[in-house]
Order: sequence, then C-alpha cells, then structure tokens
Amino acid sequence: MAQSAPPHPKVGEVPCIHCSTVIEVAQDFATAYCAGIQPPCPACGIPVNWWDTLLQAFLHDFPGLVSLPAVGATNTFFQIAVQPYQYQDIAFTDYGVPQDAHILDVFLTPYSPVTLYQSVGGSNRLARHHVLQSSIRLYTVPWGEGTGEPGSVQVAVTWVQNANSGEARKSLIDAAQNFSIGDFESAIIPANNAVELAITRLIEEFLTRVEAARHDKSYVRNFLINNATYSYQLNILLPTILTLKELPSFPLALRSEISTLTKIRNDVAHGGKTSRPLNKQITGRLICAALFGMSHVNYIAPRLLGRPGPRQDNP
Ligand SMILES: [Zn+2]
Repeated sequence: MAQSAPPHPKVGEVPCIHCSTVIEVAQDFATAYCAGIQPPCPACGIPVNWWDTLLQAFLHDFPGLVSLPAVGATNTFFQIAVQPYQYQDIAFTDYGVPQDAHILDVFLTPYSPVTLYQSVGGSNRLARHHVLQSSIRLYTVPWGEGTGEPGSVQVAVTWVQNANSGEARKSLIDAAQNFSIGDFESAIIPANNAVELAITRLIEEFLTRVEAARHDKSYVRNFLINNATYSYQLNILLPTILTLKELPSFPLALRSEISTLTKIRNDVAHGGKTSRPLNKQITGRLICAALFGMSHVNYIAPRLLGRPGPRQDNP
C-alpha cells in the first residue's frame, strides 16, 4: 500500500474565486468578513471576500471535500493497491485518521483496471447519511474485459474529531452533509440550530456574568427564554453588546440571511410549505450564513468574555 500526495484542497482550504489557486481559510474568516477586512489572495493579490469565497465553495462542492472542511471537518487522502477478485479491508487509522474520529464521508476513485464493489450502495461514494465505521471492506473486479492486473484506488475520508465538536458545530456539519446530498429541507433545521445555539449561549454567558452578583443563572435563562427570545438576541442584544465592547457586529446582509434561515426553519419545523422553494442556491446561502454567524460568535467569545467560554466550539 502506497500513500500518495493529496490531489484536492486540504483542510480549511478553498479555491480563490479569482485565480482558482487553493488558499487557506483563515481562522478568523467570519470575524474578518464582519469587520470588512479582505486579505489579499497570496497567489493573485486580489482581496479575498470570505463570504463570496466560501459561498462559492459550498455551491460548487466537489463531493463534500470543500464544504465539509469549511465547517470544521478534515480530509485525509491516500491511495491503495488492490488485487481484483479479492476482499480488502482498509482501516482508516492506518492512514492517520484518529481512532475516535467520526467518519462523515468516504469517496473512492478506482483507477484502471478495476471496478469496485462495496457493501453500501452501487456508487463509488459510501453512503454519507450513515455514521461510517473506521474501516471498510472492498471487493474489486476488472473493468469490462480487464486483464485482472492489480489496480489502485484513491480513498478520500472526511472526518471530524469527536472531542473537538461542540453541539453547534455538529449541527452545522449535519446541515452541510444533508446539503451535499441534495436534501435541502433536512439541512435547514440543523443549520439554524448551529447559529442559534452559538448566539444564545454567548449572550447567556455574558449576561450571567454581568448579573452574577445579584441573581442566579436561572434569572438570565428565563429572561432569554421568555422575553428576549432568539430574534431579539440576534437583532438587538448581540449588536448592542458587540458595539459597546467595540467588537465587529454582523453586517446587515448577514443578519438578514440569518433571519431568513430562522423563518424557513419555522416553516419546515411546523410541517408547512417554505415561504420560498428551497434549492441549492438558496440553501447554500443559508448554511453559509449559519457558518459565518456561528464562527464569528465563537471567535469573538473569548474576547467578549475575557477567557475561552466553557461551552464554545472552535471558530
Ligand atoms: Zn487568487
């Protein structure tokens, strides 16, 4: 078995929309976007608008290899030699995938002269709907009138480390997975969960600290559940807190996308028709909005709270 160099964008990298060179996604991409900062592309020098760049990556997703890393997953690539008419077990841990990784997607590309058979489905992509095992068993046969010579298969495993995944990020990955298989309606609720959880937790923690001397935690929680509900948190509390603390607030366009996501989420949750039909373009924008909302909140949390929040995800 020989390990090969990755032929596709690596973790946290997306193509530049101007020159197509693969560029690294900065950790503070969402906060930079909210602050109106556009770093130059290292290859062509044109300012990178992270919203346009990541949205394009979502909409032109090549088998999840772009959108899933954009939401915090990792791609591991390797190539294996295969013998026709033989079963072959592949343990992902042999290629650097951690033992406790949650496998999101496995994509197999056979090279001449073999065709693959595997236990799930007839395509070369193993069902991304299922939580996959940390190993797979392949069976290969020669193509058409192939010679029966040994062949090779390129394997792309997309995974996320369980320990690093907070609830909000898991929801976002769930949304991105549903999006990448074209199940747009199922992407909406987890996408909204991701950004709502991140915002509500940040505000709750902030207010609890302010109020800690006078009230117990349940006082703040009740206020957020019964009075300043999510829409007020998004549109009034959060912008106020961020402005007072001199941190970048959500641009109006982003806030509007996040509000639309919530409206459509309510339509879906209540079993009704969505106010506009969901397609790839609309759903991609909404998931991107959830990604930017969650990532900005998580990035600024330590700055707002004075130390890393105990329940915040990575940005
Ligand atoms: Zn460029």
